[in-house]
Amino acid sequence: MASNQSEQDAPLDIEQIDKQHVFGTWAYQSEVSPTQVVAGDGVRFTDADGNEFLDFSGQLMCSNLGHSADKVADAVTEQVNEGAYFAPGYTTEPRARLGQKLAEVTPGNLSKTFFSTSGTEAVEAAIKIARMYTGKQKIISRYRSYHGATYGSISVTGDPRRLMAEPGIPGVIKAPDPYAYGSTLDPMESLEYIDEMLMLEGDTVAAVLVEPIVGSNGILVPPEEYLPRLKEIAHDHDALLICDEVMAGFGRTGEWFGSDVFGVTPDIMTMAKGLSGAYVPLGATIVTEEIAEHFEDNMFCHGHTYAGHPVACAAGLAAVETYQEENLIEHASEVGEYLGKQLSELADDHPSVGETRGVGLFRGIELTKDADGRVPFGQRKDKISKGSTVVDDVSSAAADNGVYVANMINTLIIAPPLPITKQDIDEAVGVLDEALVVSD
Ligand code: PLP
Repeated sequence: MASNQSEQDAPLDIEQIDKQHVFGTWAYQSEVSPTQVVAGDGVRFTDADGNEFLDFSGQLMCSNLGHSADKVADAVTEQVNEGAYFAPGYTTEPRARLGQKLAEVTPGNLSKTFFSTSGTEAVEAAIKIARMYTGKQKIISRYRSYHGATYGSISVTGDPRRLMAEPGIPGVIKAPDPYAYGSTLDPMESLEYIDEMLMLEGDTVAAVLVEPIVGSNGILVPPEEYLPRLKEIAHDHDALLICDEVMAGFGRTGEWFGSDVFGVTPDIMTMAKGLSGAYVPLGATIVTEEIAEHFEDNMFCHGHTYAGHPVACAAGLAAVETYQEENLIEHASEVGEYLGKQLSELADDHPSVGETRGVGLFRGIELTKDADGRVPFGQRKDKISKGSTVVDDVSSAAADNGVYVANMINTLIIAPPLPITKQDIDEAVGVLDEALVVSD
């Protein structure tokens, strides 16, 4: 057979098959070029060509346990063998024990959990619960936020991903953010603005929904007094505080939850990602005893086929036990402080680094075209435009040298698996040091 004939007949490789038959998420499909990955090990993963990457973002800021959590893998196998699925009307030991465990590790009197399969669904449930509990319909959320992709959760999302789903569900009002670096409003002033909004809306707002530390919109850490005061303001107006802990939860900040950094117990908390260490899809919405009590005699009007899936709950329980048994939260706090120092030293050497910020192993490097004017590269809504942005180019340069680092809206997002060592951090920061030359 002629060689050009055999080339024509050559089977498509996995990446080509995928590109042809699978939608890439949040992307112009012509620009999607998936890399096939074949293995994960600790804080590293390997592609089909044998290239190894240090995972400096924990994939989508979710692989908090890294890629070899044996206890979780064993729990999944065991549950699949014992009985993979039973309807939500039945319970299983992993489901009941995970509910109990979450009541133990979450702050205050958060006590009863609705299980789902993603952060998006966890947020959907939170919105519905807040509406059913208060009998009010409006939700205040903030502009620099991401809460999910279904119609309710994208409607409460503030970043550009919401634009194509608008006008979205009725009753959502957006508030300004505690974004000291990039906003003209001081973070505490932005809070008083929310107070004013609540006053002007009368008694019609069910909840204020925030990420306690904003994740994909740039790792925004508010001042210490912000979240306690926000809870006070919400309660003064008979509105609930919902904290979306999908990204900030499970040790990412060096505490169990972002809310713990500020000593706040929200009325409703959403979780996913680190909850199962991303070993299986799992979301959860936990509520206080008072809210749980309300539904004793009021219909809880919500559910999914896979709510409390036994395999997912077995993974979640094993994941939470792994955080505890391996002291990963304390470890994240210790190495997180080291990471913070290394990143701020890095900033000193690069004119294109506007600010490094964050807490624990949850950090961002915001790039700037002009440090004095804090001018962003491109628009801050860069993710709905075509083509790569400067921050994409920095991520690519890092990947070429073996470090995977995600980015969003002009910011490199550093959120490695919690077991990362100081040595791994040095290696990754060294690669970023070279990659940042692209934006300088
Ligand atoms: N909430 C926050 C804070 C998130 O960061 C995300 C995803 O990144 C979501 C909700 C949606 O979660 P999922 O992608 O699992 O649906």
